[in-house]
Amino acid sequence: MEKEKRLPNGKVLRLMVGDITKVPADAIVNAANSALRGGGGVDGAIHRAGGPSIMEELNQIRAQIGHCPTGSAVVTGAGNLPAKYVFHAVGPIYQDGKHGEERLLASCYETCMRLAAERNVKKITFPSISTGAYGYPVEEAAPVALRTVLSVLQQGETPVEEAVFVLFDQRTFEAYSRALDTLP
Ligand code: ADP
Repeated sequence: MEKEKRLPNGKVLRLMVGDITKVPADAIVNAANSALRGGGGVDGAIHRAGGPSIMEELNQIRAQIGHCPTGSAVVTGAGNLPAKYVFHAVGPIYQDGKHGEERLLASCYETCMRLAAERNVKKITFPSISTGAYGYPVEEAAPVALRTVLSVLQQGETPVEEAVFVLFDQRTFEAYSRALDTLP
C-alpha cells in the first residue's frame, strides 16, 4: 500500500503501510515520551531494532536537559537502524482537542523538519505521532501532520527531498490517504 504526492518543485510526500524500523532513511522520527526513557509502540520497536546505543545517548541528553517538552524533539544516532539519526519527538497526550493538542502536534512535525534541515537530511520517515497510546484521533491528527510537513516541502528551502509517513496499519493509512486527498 503506497500513495505519493509529487510537488511542482520535485519534492515528494509519500504514505505507506509498514514498520518504520525497516525503511531506510537519513532520519527516522520516533514518537517518544517526554521522559525519553523508551516505551511501547513505535518507541519500543525503535529501541529494540536500534539497540542500546540509542538509550545510552538519551541518558546523556536527559542528564543535560532533564526531559523533552511536548511538541519538541531531541536527536540521537540510529544505532543498528538503517538511518543516520533518530529524532525523538514528543507528541501531545490527547485530552479533548481543546488543550493545544493541534498546535503541539504540528510543532512536533515542524521541529523534526527543522532538525532535518540542520543536518542536511534528504529522506525523513515519520510514524503517526500521538495516535497510538496518546489517544489522538487519527482522523484529526492526519490532516495536521500532512499539512505541516507539506507546507515545509512546498516552501522549497528544505534539503528534504522525500518525507515518508510509515503507517503501521491499514486503518491509519486510509485516514492519512483521505486527508491527503482533501489538502490543497
Ligand atoms: P504515541 O504514544 O505517540 O501515541 P504510539 O507508538 O503508541 O505513540 O503510536 C503511534 C503510532 O505508531 C500508532 O499508529 C502505532 O500503530 C504506530 N506504530 C507502532 N509500531 C510501529 C512501527 N514499528 N512502525 C511504524 N509505526 C508504528
